[in-house]
Amino acid sequence: MTLRDLEIGESCRITAVGGEGELRQHFLDMGVIPGAVATLIKYAPMGDPMELRIHGYALTLRLADAQQIEVVQISAAEAKAEEDDAASIQEKQSYAKRQTVEEHPGLGEGGRFHDKATEHALPEGTILTFALAGNQNSGKTTLFNQLTGSNQHVGNFPGVTVDRKSGAIRGYPGTEVTDLPGIYSMSPYTSEELVSREYILHEKPKGIINIVDATNIERNLYLTMQLIELNIPMVVALNMMDEMQGNGGSVLINRMEKHLGVPVIPISAAKNQGVSELIEHAIHVAKYQERPKRQDFCDEQEHGGAVHRCIHAIMHLIEDHAAAAEIPIRFAATKLVEGDQHIMEALKLTQNEKEMIEHIIVQMEEERGLDRNAAIADMRFSFIERLVKKTVIKPTESKEAIRSAKLDRLLTGKYTAIPMFILIMGIVFWLTFNVIGAFLQDLLAQGVDALTKLADQGLTALGTSPALHSLLIDGIFTGVGSVLSFLPIVVTLFFFLSLLEDTGYMARIAFVMDKLLRKIGLSGRSIVPMLVGFGCSVPAVMSSRTLPSERDRKMTIMLIPFMSCSAKLPIYGFFTAAFFPGRGALIMVLLYFTGILVGVIVAKISQCTVFKGEAVPFVMELPNYRMPGFKNVMQLLWEKAKDFISRAFTIITLATIVVWFLQTFDFGLNMVTDSGRSILAVIAGWISPIFAPMGFSNWKITSALITGFMAKESVVSTLQILFGSDAALHAVLTTVSAAALLVFCLLYTPCVAAIASIHRELGRKWAIGVVVLQCAIAWLCGVIVYQVGMLLF
Ligand code: GDP
Ligand code: MG
Repeated sequence: MTLRDLEIGESCRITAVGGEGELRQHFLDMGVIPGAVATLIKYAPMGDPMELRIHGYALTLRLADAQQIEVVQISAAEAKAEEDDAASIQEKQSYAKRQTVEEHPGLGEGGRFHDKATEHALPEGTILTFALAGNQNSGKTTLFNQLTGSNQHVGNFPGVTVDRKSGAIRGYPGTEVTDLPGIYSMSPYTSEELVSREYILHEKPKGIINIVDATNIERNLYLTMQLIELNIPMVVALNMMDEMQGNGGSVLINRMEKHLGVPVIPISAAKNQGVSELIEHAIHVAKYQERPKRQDFCDEQEHGGAVHRCIHAIMHLIEDHAAAAEIPIRFAATKLVEGDQHIMEALKLTQNEKEMIEHIIVQMEEERGLDRNAAIADMRFSFIERLVKKTVIKPTESKEAIRSAKLDRLLTGKYTAIPMFILIMGIVFWLTFNVIGAFLQDLLAQGVDALTKLADQGLTALGTSPALHSLLIDGIFTGVGSVLSFLPIVVTLFFFLSLLEDTGYMARIAFVMDKLLRKIGLSGRSIVPMLVGFGCSVPAVMSSRTLPSERDRKMTIMLIPFMSCSAKLPIYGFFTAAFFPGRGALIMVLLYFTGILVGVIVAKISQCTVFKGEAVPFVMELPNYRMPGFKNVMQLLWEKAKDFISRAFTIITLATIVVWFLQTFDFGLNMVTDSGRSILAVIAGWISPIFAPMGFSNWKITSALITGFMAKESVVSTLQILFGSDAALHAVLTTVSAAALLVFCLLYTPCVAAIASIHRELGRKWAIGVVVLQCAIAWLCGVIVYQVGMLLF
């Protein structure tokens, strides 16, 4: 039978993992390996994906993927016995009693990891660079903020839009910690994992700080073992110890250290406990370049030592190549067994050597009875299992896990999940757009107004030339002011989004919504950026950062502008009042749905063309619900606000000045008194014939649409200025052409702030592409509405 056939609450032992390539490797890395015990917890409300319990944590899996995993059913008692092993607990407890006096291992001096004879510290003045690596949700961001305080700088990893945050450790000026993207394994599955791996392999940090979630230790240690293979000085920061101990669990630190061969420091990042000790150890191992004591985790005895012999044989074979390519040898060997193409190429092996390696691996597969990837994953997990049995006393019942299960009954329950989701998002939007954000926006608008007035008076008093006066007041102050007025909304939305993310709810949303989004070739993770798009495209595009794959990110960003943003509401309001009185609600609903429908069609088309292939498979962890750290949230808000402001004063200011210039001058560069003679009006006159198939070819409307590029609200204000009255508008627009114009406004180019965000995330080509695509689609839809409308009415 397969995992798919399991009933809720039943347990099984995995016998074989099907599928192929990177996806299969990812399953294995997440602990879905032959021999592992899994329990089916529930299905998402729409019936797909499923939630499993495996290695003590919650994993989501799509049904199609579950179907590829062969299992045998086992009884609940058997599954429970697997989890806790009474004899080992007793042994550990007595060991713990005997060990209470031993202090935490010293920092090398006569200690375990370092002896005086081989001591050679890095020269004074070397910058000690650290990579902070760990699983997602292991507390990386929290620890990073504790380590660096506010001395952080955010950049990009070369070539990809993955944030690269680094900073000096507080109080240690000669250090630099870089926060790597959360990863589960050193197999390059997503672009982020590749970033982490490339960073460690090529930038050669002086040390690694590996953060491990103690409450989820099996899966977290899987990465640890691969990091150790890199033979870089390393410390393990055992995080969430507050939670672990609060529930009566503990870890025999000294023993674990002995088995792993690297210093292990228990900490609580959220409570700032143990962090200073961690820093001391980290600096020590980096300064004295104390490499892991042990890398040989393959057991000679286990399964006849097949895996052990295979890895060691390959290590001998590739010794020279690994040294030449500067890749740690043991790491290179295990990656070769796993069939890693990047490493294979980097090693520059001869055909002969490749064949020999293949031969060794095939031999191992035969002896071991498992394929290569499964054999390596199994080797790592069996070591971890033995280690955990010897060193970890698991809490019998974790308060946090129980609380999470209770919350999940409501938040991912079959009938309650979707209503709760709508309710929560509703509250977020209401608070953002009606209460907090709106209040801040008013405040900011008043501030900008006051400042503008002041500047206006000042300039008048100084008697500056009218052109300069107009540039500053009508151009820069008004333009930047109108864009800055987005800022409160952006910040408030991000406040709520980071709460949702850090508490662990975002992962649940993805779980609940996955089936729906899969229909358009995306995964559940994309729902939040798209929903935020109904508020404002700017934070929506910015929040797509968290999506796990480049393809999903691009596709989501492309679809966001189809979600009608709140700045378009004034346009709808204006036209419905003028042309469809009394039917406002109907028109609004129709417009919103048109946007979504067109978005779905575009997604469907692009799925077969630009974005071929599947969305990221949905093998994802559902972390326990946790209280978000105040510092983390504030740090994020500060970053996003800074990012937005810096754009407001660069690209956006430039665009504002251009539009102002076009509006204010004629072709002789004289300031115009009659708006009909401005450059904008002339250009609009050239463009307007394009709109003839929509029933309006009018320079005034075209001008309004061009100013809408700055901010959508400007469409209305420009129309009001140029037309003066409803009657004048009725003279150029019929009801049908007004409908076409509305549809065009719904779909045409995002505003300059949104384009600037897209530019930042995906680069110039994509930003231009989105603008062109949106305008083309808007035109097409507008024409369809007008032509069909003319036939019907
Ligand atoms: P990241 O995904 O690895 O960056 O993890 P975060 O730093 O965002 O942390 C995930 C969640 O765990 C947040 O809600 C944190 O507040 C929480 N957290 C982090 N460290 C600790 C800790 O030591 N103890 C407890 N109880 N919670 C923590
Ligand atoms: Mg984080």
